[in-house]
Amino acid sequence: MAYKITDECISCGACEPECPNEAITEGETIYVIEADKCTECVGTHDSSRCADICPVDACATDPDHEESREQLLEKWRGIHPGETPAAS
Ligand code: SF4
Ligand code: SF4
Repeated sequence: MAYKITDECISCGACEPECPNEAITEGETIYVIEADKCTECVGTHDSSRCADICPVDACATDPDHEESREQLLEKWRGIHPGETPAAS
């Protein structure tokens, strides 16, 4: 399931460089996550970096983007061709 950023976001920018898939960008009012690039950090980290680092808990799973772990890994492989996903 991809993550999304809620209206709680204070646009501190801390999450952007933490995303291993460059899925986070600054939007017009808050930061945004591109669902096609978010793997819930599957393939790189044991937990979701943006949710771990956000000071106001503005990163939440997006029920509109339900995906299995295998689907998330497949997405990761598409973003990181030729690389090996981290075991977790
Ligand atoms: S959960 Fe991971 S992959 Fe998804 S936006 Fe957050 S840091 Fe990026
Ligand atoms: S870390 Fe949290 S508050 Fe800061 S930009 Fe990201 S989502 Fe917004």
